[in-house]
Amino acid sequence: MTDTTDSQASLFPLGSGISLPAPPPESISRLATLLAELEPSVRAAANAGAAEAAARSAGAPRGAANSLYVALRCKSVRTASHGLRVALIASGWATELNLPDHEREAIEIAALLHDVGILGLPDEILSKPGNLDPDESRLMNQARKMSATILRQASADPRVEEIVEHVPAWYDGSRPAYPLRGEAIPLGSRLISIVEAFDAMITEQVYRPAMSLERAGIELFRSAGTQFDPALVNLFARFPASTLGQCRQEASGRKIRSLAPEISNSYWALTDCSSHAGDRPDMRLFKDRLLDNMHDAVVFIDSSLRILRWNHGAERLTGIAGPSICDRLWAPGLLSMRSERGDAIGEDECPVNNAIVSGAQSLRRLSITARTRDRVAVDSHTIPVADSHGAILGAVLVLHDASPEISLQERCQSLHAKATRDPLTQVANRAEFDRVFELFVKTHRQQQVACSLIICDLDFFKSVNDTYGHQAGDEVIKSLATLLKSSCRPGDLVARYGGEEFVLLCADCGNGAAARRADQIRSRLAQTPQRSLGGRAVTASFGVTEIQPGDTAETMLRRADRGLLTAKEKGRNTVVQLGAGSRSSEFSEEPATWGRADGGKAVCFFASLATPMPPAVAREKLAGFIADHQAKVANQGETDITLVITNGGLPRRRRGDRSISLVVALKIRTGAESKQLGGTPQPAVQTEIEVTVRPRRNRDRRRSAVEDAARQLTASLRSYLGARENPCLWRSATARSE
Ligand code: GH3
Ligand code: MG
Ligand code: MG
Repeated sequence: MTDTTDSQASLFPLGSGISLPAPPPESISRLATLLAELEPSVRAAANAGAAEAAARSAGAPRGAANSLYVALRCKSVRTASHGLRVALIASGWATELNLPDHEREAIEIAALLHDVGILGLPDEILSKPGNLDPDESRLMNQARKMSATILRQASADPRVEEIVEHVPAWYDGSRPAYPLRGEAIPLGSRLISIVEAFDAMITEQVYRPAMSLERAGIELFRSAGTQFDPALVNLFARFPASTLGQCRQEASGRKIRSLAPEISNSYWALTDCSSHAGDRPDMRLFKDRLLDNMHDAVVFIDSSLRILRWNHGAERLTGIAGPSICDRLWAPGLLSMRSERGDAIGEDECPVNNAIVSGAQSLRRLSITARTRDRVAVDSHTIPVADSHGAILGAVLVLHDASPEISLQERCQSLHAKATRDPLTQVANRAEFDRVFELFVKTHRQQQVACSLIICDLDFFKSVNDTYGHQAGDEVIKSLATLLKSSCRPGDLVARYGGEEFVLLCADCGNGAAARRADQIRSRLAQTPQRSLGGRAVTASFGVTEIQPGDTAETMLRRADRGLLTAKEKGRNTVVQLGAGSRSSEFSEEPATWGRADGGKAVCFFASLATPMPPAVAREKLAGFIADHQAKVANQGETDITLVITNGGLPRRRRGDRSISLVVALKIRTGAESKQLGGTPQPAVQTEIEVTVRPRRNRDRRRSAVEDAARQLTASLRSYLGARENPCLWRSATARSE
């Protein structure tokens, strides 16, 4: 049995087995350097294009496989990266299987290019998020067959072509159109089919999220014997996770640029990449087919701006036929190019001109006039083409139709707006407010930054509707929303909370500032003549509160709402601010003195508080605490109050958690006038409160949740009472529980 340490743990733990080391460094280097050569891929594309376009080019093409990989990258970076990862992993594995070098190299190239047939597929199929329909599946299967055809035309090593041809075959021979079965399927194909399936499973796809390594391993085993060679699946399962990580990291392309180019050139010795290959008639045919199978528009332009090549993709996108435009001079006006902001692109901003003049490549979103005469958004990629001495020979322009992505973005944006905005006023709706407010409170509590909530409600609005009609009322509601929006600062949020009730979340804003802002809004509203009411103004009432220790979103909202109710009671058109806020130093959320008694399965928490408020005021404040926590008063005597508080007033827990119900027993008594503690004079204590919190039902297993809730509740009580710890009163939990 092999010793597997963490870093060398197999992909999915399977017990005993051999552990494969990493692919040989030269193998990784070779493939990685390939990418270095191709990164940015466009530079290599330019090389290929230059050879194709300008026969006078002294720069030798890098060979068919190189061009193919570049083309694949232009079409789909995702597919090209998948090919590279599969090549790196397959290469390491082939080495471990002790395959001869030439076979391993054939497997590398086959793995790299096994998906090259997708060049002929429309982007809609490649990026389709759902399942493919039968026609689309047929096209996808054809693309797999096309991979082998393209490689044949590219005069790839016959072994490469054979491996690619049989990658889609199933081990049990059950896949139509792939009659080979079992060991008759080339080893390279069987090996790549496992690696490519595995890579696809653990990579995020447009149609599904990435699977975990373990889950992908289970899937491979599930298909061992039918789709995959079972013996190879067994071996692959022992492939070390660290190796896989290394391969994926190499493929992500960070390390690779520093590797020596000569290694990469040796790699391409496998296929015929002599400079004469480009002149061969079959190579020309292949390149023509490659360019014309590309869905994107590809245009070659020489250094005197003469258009040399206009592929089928360009014809399809622009509606301009190749023969009618080749040999004409390039100008951005030919396609009515415009920037993303809609400004016409002049000669001096034209990416093609810039590429030829400065040798700079560019990637920009533009729009052009398309075949349909409508404007189409395109991602334009312009690559300067230089010879081996660096002299600019021309440029390649690749235009990718971005409209499917744009319309998807727009649809997402409009769906999001619909889901989060109130249709009448265009401010956030209640659902959005609830979501943001929860986050807002959490963030502000974590970062100990003040934040406030203003809630307002139009005064006597029923009578506005009754007198002027509902539509006129709507106009008034819109006018209040506009006023609130105009008084927002960055980070604030306005939401319509109900009919004619709005909330304004004020980030980084304490009680005082929030109350001032509310008052400004109040007075501006009262002075704004409403057109729909024949110039009459309306008023509103406001409740304001700042977050304070122990708060939840619910308690803060209820406190603000209490402020609003009080404003209405006070006669309306006024602002009422409630709560002590977060800044007072004695309001720490951590209770310093916290007693605890565990009696059998029961758990109980004690705290002793002292407040400078007289008992009558403390009781009044307690009423606010009771209201905002929706506490039930179970018992009330002269000095004793017992409350029952359930989830409504407690911190929100994860969905699915059972509710917690706490019993809070309070003993209130008049405190000593003044206390001297350890030589430090303490402020006068007028009221002392002893707090005992215990779960209503004893559930030993949830002790930590109960403790958290009890702690937050006590912190909140302290905030409401303006209290601090009272060390004089605190006795040990043991003493208390006796
Ligand atoms: P108060 O000063 O106590 O707030 O008195 P009020 O008349 O405004 O009372 P309340 O806030 O309870 O009444 C809200 C009214 O707002 C009731 C309803 O007819 C009206 N309302 C609610 N939503 C809309 C709306 O979308 N458009 C219009 N025009 N009126 C609405
Ligand atoms: Mg009202
Ligand atoms: Mg109302």
